[in-house]
Amino acid sequence: MKKCPDCGHRSQTTDFRCPECGSYYSKIIELIDQTAEEEARYTWQARWQRVMDADKKWPAIQLELAQIRSELSPQASLALIVVFMFVFALVFAI
Ligand SMILES: [Zn+2]
Repeated sequence: MKKCPDCGHRSQTTDFRCPECGSYYSKIIELIDQTAEEEARYTWQARWQRVMDADKKWPAIQLELAQIRSELSPQASLALIVVFMFVFALVFAI
């Protein structure tokens, strides 16, 4: 039996959250969950989804690109540019 620290709801649940109000039973679980959510925001899929959801696509794309650039190290962005150039060269060579 678990008792919710927020609303006092008692439940036999094996969940980490209260079925009544959605509060976490444990601070540690809450922290882990929030970290996972935070990381999920930076996946390519999440980025793509945000661009697709945006009313104006182009500003959304620019915003995501700016974020990606700020996360990458200079070496990584250089490697990315080289890869892009290589792909371009291949496309135009055919
Ligand atoms: Zn609750």
